[in-house]
Amino acid sequence: MKIDAAVLDHHGIAAPYAATRPLRLATLDLAAPRPGELLLRIDAAGVCHSDLSVVNGDRVRPVPMALGHEAAATVLATGSAHSEFAVGDRVVLSFLPACGRCERCVAGEGYLCAVATAANGKGVMMGGGHRLSEGDTPVFHHLGVSAFATHAVVDERSAVRIDGDIPPEIAALFGCAVLTGVGAVVNAAKVRPGESVAIYGLGGVGLAALLGAVASGAEPIVAFDPVAAKVDLARDLGAIAAHPRDAKATIDRVAPGGVDVAIETVGKASVLADAYAATRRGGRTVTVGLPNPAEMLMIPAISLVGDGKTIMGSYMGHAIPRRDIPRYIALWRAGRLPVERLLTATRPLAQINAALDDLAAGIAVRQVMIPEPKA
Ligand SMILES: [Zn+2]
Ligand SMILES: [Zn+2]
Repeated sequence: MKIDAAVLDHHGIAAPYAATRPLRLATLDLAAPRPGELLLRIDAAGVCHSDLSVVNGDRVRPVPMALGHEAAATVLATGSAHSEFAVGDRVVLSFLPACGRCERCVAGEGYLCAVATAANGKGVMMGGGHRLSEGDTPVFHHLGVSAFATHAVVDERSAVRIDGDIPPEIAALFGCAVLTGVGAVVNAAKVRPGESVAIYGLGGVGLAALLGAVASGAEPIVAFDPVAAKVDLARDLGAIAAHPRDAKATIDRVAPGGVDVAIETVGKASVLADAYAATRRGGRTVTVGLPNPAEMLMIPAISLVGDGKTIMGSYMGHAIPRRDIPRYIALWRAGRLPVERLLTATRPLAQINAALDDLAAGIAVRQVMIPEPKA
């Protein structure tokens, strides 16, 4: 079938993206789903910093690639006659399907699935190959999702069924920002009530981590971002928030000796070093940001043993999506995880390049693109 999708042809095209248009809205051919796959109508797709990192070249992926990895969708067809999904099911997509069979999957660490990680790196489906093409040219898949599009074919293991009453623009956020940010707090750091938490960076993932820290009973929660509007939002959500230049003074005032848990979401080694320095003796530093691969982390090596500190990377918030997304949605329904506060705007898919500009400028937390399906 013919679909519309936002395709990246070259990395590193300079901003302003509304003018340079690194993402091209193209009509692509989408092949039918194979057994174990689903044909979806994309209802809403969030714009994440990881999309921007592919566009600007911090995360190099094969091109041409159809971008977008955080989405809510509706099942239009199943590739298997006996699927666990049915036509009309509403789903949230996860950007790392778990094969269920590799060593990491059977150890309960599906967020490190070797099969899915390899497929994501190659820009192909976990079942192998492409379902997207433009004429004779195969188009690569972004993290098995490629959601800046009217439709997608995904592996069933990329989909988590949700109730039909959740607005798609809210549901989409659970697939990346919430899964990663809340997961960093509850799965990776295992924050306990009364622990102090510092959050570096208040994008979608950082603010989701803040919501997770509030829901976990952390106190105090401090949060840092250079954008004043995000600092204001963080205060409104229950944090002591400040510009990063005031981070050290703020920590010294509210958590002398450092915080129990520091969470870095910016994806810069220097910020990770700051977060580590702000962690108390015996505390945990968790990073979920994705720095440019050339960046090296500089910390006093002695402090790991001498101060008994732990530094931990967390891909996708150590998430088990089929366990965690329903849990986080239940918290949202109870009013204890107000994910809707992260939603800055909904926009038509045609505005995707302008949305990248607003994300890069820090004007937006989460913008959700609403495609207009042809059928
Ligand atoms: Zn993301
Ligand atoms: Zn696996």
